[in-house]
Amino acid sequence: MYNFENCDVRFNVPLKEYTTFKTGGNAKVFIEPKTPVAVAQVLRKLTERGERYFVLGNGSNLLVADEGIDCPVIHIGKNLSEIKVEGERVICQAGALLSGAANAAYREELTGMEFAQGIPGSVGGGVCMNAGAYGGELKDIIDWIDYASPSGEFYRMDCDTADLTYRHSFFSDKEYVVTAACFKLNRGNGEEILAKMKDLAERRRDKQPLKYPSAGSTFKRPCGYFAAALIEEAGLKGLCVGDACVSEKHSGFIINKGNATTEDILCLMEKVKKAVYEKSGVTLEAEVKFWK
Ligand SMILES: Cc1cc2nc3c(=O)[nH]c(=O)nc-3n(C[C@H](O)[C@H](O)[C@H](O)COP(=O)(O)OP(=O)(O)OC[C@H]3O[C@@H](n4cnc5c(N)ncnc54)[C@H](O)[C@@H]3O)c2cc1C
Repeated sequence: MYNFENCDVRFNVPLKEYTTFKTGGNAKVFIEPKTPVAVAQVLRKLTERGERYFVLGNGSNLLVADEGIDCPVIHIGKNLSEIKVEGERVICQAGALLSGAANAAYREELTGMEFAQGIPGSVGGGVCMNAGAYGGELKDIIDWIDYASPSGEFYRMDCDTADLTYRHSFFSDKEYVVTAACFKLNRGNGEEILAKMKDLAERRRDKQPLKYPSAGSTFKRPCGYFAAALIEEAGLKGLCVGDACVSEKHSGFIINKGNATTEDILCLMEKVKKAVYEKSGVTLEAEVKFWK
């Protein structure tokens, strides 16, 4: 039934090994297509059979239910991670890491992608989330995006039609699969590019609890506020449910101190939302995606 051409297929795969939070249950079926055509074929067959599916990139913005996922998970990862540079463009398959794309840009002395070097996502997940940091967003550098539709057709979309806004895109919470993206950069100076990437990496190490599993910022930045400041003002630094804790180093991060479950994290998120609302009247919205 899951005999797809050009795909690695496994059953009962622990998703905690594929998420940076290191929580969650198993995927009933775990499909890793090896070519864009295989991605489209998988989508078409699952759609024809009326099966729901999830699309996994590098799992760095995800919470998976502890009970696991009772439908296929399509992993766009290493099998689809080619990166090539053509002139001022960096063209990446969706499973390539943003860090790999930024490093490729640096090697060719192309500037504009330094901000993405420390974001631990894939190109596909980054496009879907319009990932950004330190004043840059993928929206600023995307030229075009290739994707496959649930019926197995391929399309190319330019940046302006991709509805890229803060941590949101045309692909958010939809069943399309990004298969590649092209970033348009500018000629720069290698030493300056490297210095900028090193500076941003140091700022991350200084501010973020990188030695613990997390999904980065748990909540989106509310208009006119910073989530971390609101959480800190509500006195929530260090608050824990089980091993899920509001980081002491950066209140915007919930971290897994060892054996947290997804349920612990969700429960802590609810407590944080409630306390912040009571203290400041601001409603926090989750940035991390929850699969169940
Ligand atoms: C320590 C840490 C620091 C972080 N810092 C930042 C930061 O500075 N800025 C920032 O924006 N984010 C940050 N993040 C969050 C995360 O890295 C980004 O949201 C990233 O873009 C997610 O990419 P991913 O491949 O891991 O996606 P996943 O977590 O695998 O998936 C996220 C969403 O994208 C969808 N998706 C994934 N791949 C595809 C695809 N090929 N086609 C269609 N949909 C797809 C999924 O279905 C899901 O809805 C951080 C996370 C961590 C752990």
